[in-house]
Amino acid sequence: MRTIGLIGGMSWESSIEYYRLINQQVRTRLGPLRSAQLLMYSVDFGPIEQAQHLGRWSDAGAILADAARRLESGGADCVVLCTNTMHKVAEQIQHAINIPFLHIADPTAKAALAAGVTTVGLLGTSFTMEQDFLKDRLKAMGLKVIVPDADARAVVHRIIYDELCIGVINDTSRLLYQQVIDSLAARGAQAIILGCTEIGLLIKSEHSALPLLDTTQLHAQAAVAFALASDVQGDQS
Ligand code: GLU
Repeated sequence: MRTIGLIGGMSWESSIEYYRLINQQVRTRLGPLRSAQLLMYSVDFGPIEQAQHLGRWSDAGAILADAARRLESGGADCVVLCTNTMHKVAEQIQHAINIPFLHIADPTAKAALAAGVTTVGLLGTSFTMEQDFLKDRLKAMGLKVIVPDADARAVVHRIIYDELCIGVINDTSRLLYQQVIDSLAARGAQAIILGCTEIGLLIKSEHSALPLLDTTQLHAQAAVAFALASDVQGDQS
């Protein structure tokens, strides 16, 4: 089994989900007492969040590149960045290391295409919904990406930082997200990308009029596929 390197802490509410999902999948695939070989470097989200809102992306990128280097020197065979937003600095991180960086958009786009979806609605932070770093990668893989209107984007963004990242799960906010999903459906979205690693804590498939593509689940799955690539024939190493 290869060792997965996770960069977590953004927020730790979602890092827990990565840890749980990765271990559950390894157990399902290898047996009840099997678990993932992994390292997590969990950063202090405070300086990262400040840098985001000040537009100082390369400062945040430097912190994450350092985390990736530490994972590599600790024995990680890949790096998994447990946040969509910070994929803004994916290249800065990849350039710092000599092991693969598993980009969150790739398993997400593949899952959409495998489900026959061509138009997706994207929910995430304002950075993710408004800037091109994630959307361009999804589009390059053949998807049409639509995002909520400006007012709805502000609501979606506020709920992520003021509630989900601090562990607050609120019925009123769920209702607001459901309205946003309905409006994306009316504009032609066939599925919704939960393009923020905390949204799955609030919105499950039973809450959504459209099928969900949860980046946390899909990214965790990709990490497990990477880790077990040499275990396909039941290698118990
Ligand atoms: N975890 C979130 C994401 O997937 C938001 C927190 C952050 O800004 O990193 O984008």
